[in-house]
Amino acid sequence: MIDNLLAGNAKFVSNEFAPNAAYYHALAAHQRPKVLWIGCSDSRVSEHQMTDSKPGTMFVHRNVANIVAFNDVNISAILEYGVVHLKIEDIIVCGHTRCGGIAAIEDGVHENYIADWLCIATGAKEAADRIALERGLDREQKLAVLTEENVKLQIKHLRNLALIKNLLAKGSVPRIHGWLYRVETGTVDVLIDGRGETPRSGSPAKALKAVKAVVGHGAKKPAAKKTRKH
Ligand SMILES: [Zn+2]
Repeated sequence: MIDNLLAGNAKFVSNEFAPNAAYYHALAAHQRPKVLWIGCSDSRVSEHQMTDSKPGTMFVHRNVANIVAFNDVNISAILEYGVVHLKIEDIIVCGHTRCGGIAAIEDGVHENYIADWLCIATGAKEAADRIALERGLDREQKLAVLTEENVKLQIKHLRNLALIKNLLAKGSVPRIHGWLYRVETGTVDVLIDGRGETPRSGSPAKALKAVKAVVGHGAKKPAAKKTRKH
């Protein structure tokens, strides 16, 4: 398999990189992605391939079941760098059909770390339980509902992160979108359409100043007390 990957890289260099050398050389100097992708780690869900995008289009975070956790330093650092420094304009949270993480949320899982991680989607499971009961859904239908409810819940988590709330208060927050990728057809369903939201304004420096003003890091240091020399 590893030989296949290395052979694939040689093909990429000759078929894609070399014919588009100017694009890739500019990209080597600076990345300027306008989209932050939060998706599942599933091997079938490749954000650049499904959107027919070139490298450099998206800043990417992927984890089991596309979860946004408030206590996850990893996603927080990615968000801070993406939103404040890269000045990301759009954030996409993308779930997908046939998600093993979603099935594990539905069926319950007892493995240590996976169970702890999927606990963060408990609210989506409760919502799906209610809807399944009201509508008399079978397992497949319920998994579809749970997948969508999970995307909605993770967007709620995202909007509740201090970084996003503080930027929102300053009127400079990226548009947020909820998508569903269908592994059976390769198509995307738009669950939450953020395209109608106001595009963010201001420069990256202004956004950083806004965050610093809120969290207090930008405050002037108090003048040091003068001490008399003896
Ligand atoms: Zn998945």
